[in-house]
Amino acid sequence: MKGLVFNIKRYAIHDGPGIRITFFLKGCPLNCWWCHNPEGISPKPQRVERIDRIGEREFRVTEEVGKYYTAGELLTIAEKERVFMEESGGGVTLSGGEPLMQADFLVESLSLFKDAGMHTTLDTSGYASNSVMNRVMPLTDLFLFDLKHLDSDRHTEFTGVGNEQILENLDLLIREKKKIFLRFPVIPGFNDDSEHLLRVRDFVGGMNRDFVTEMDLLPYHHIGSSKYKRFNMEYRMSGTGQPSGSRMHELKEFFGENGLTVRIGG
Ligand code: SF4
Repeated sequence: MKGLVFNIKRYAIHDGPGIRITFFLKGCPLNCWWCHNPEGISPKPQRVERIDRIGEREFRVTEEVGKYYTAGELLTIAEKERVFMEESGGGVTLSGGEPLMQADFLVESLSLFKDAGMHTTLDTSGYASNSVMNRVMPLTDLFLFDLKHLDSDRHTEFTGVGNEQILENLDLLIREKKKIFLRFPVIPGFNDDSEHLLRVRDFVGGMNRDFVTEMDLLPYHHIGSSKYKRFNMEYRMSGTGQPSGSRMHELKEFFGENGLTVRIGG
């Protein structure tokens, strides 16, 4: 079978340990206001125009976003990076979009990577059925798991879906003793008020440190906002400021009180 991929990032250093190759699978059931990969949301290939400039001249270029690959083709691409992976303790990361949305293709790809002895990481919103999560769990060495908001109504307002299924899957991974790096996007006006931050710290504080070992704070940024126009989508975060460096360091210390490794960025 084939899966739809919209980007392949080589020498990735923020998508799990070591140097990695990251495959971005197209399609996401969420629609987060701040998403910086809006081209990953639609589960179909898309044709968009971009303008290239050489000196004073402008060229309109039509670009196809999303290309179908077999799992075997992804493995062949990843094999070319094996030396970097092995020397750095890296591996392969499946990201998106939401990679769990292409569950069959994801399972096939992860199986091939595992059989080839590669470390596998899944970068996920956690939004999928328990049965899908159960299928990918044994094939995944590390989960980069988003925690966006603990209040389901607020979660729905800003992402389009409630958080019940996500929290259930997080609980499932913890019970199954899977290694998890939590990822908390710091979105001003959405999840960064002190009451919610205290709730998140308490929630994370109760997790088993042997398996939930790291928390990555991802500061909201505008990069990606220009893509919305090209994809004929509305950008709803205009006017939202980016958290300052000092604010991020303050949050790092705040969450670090849990005894967790906290990093800014991820
Ligand atoms: S879950 Fe991730 S990929 Fe999906 S819309 Fe939200 S930020 Fe974008």
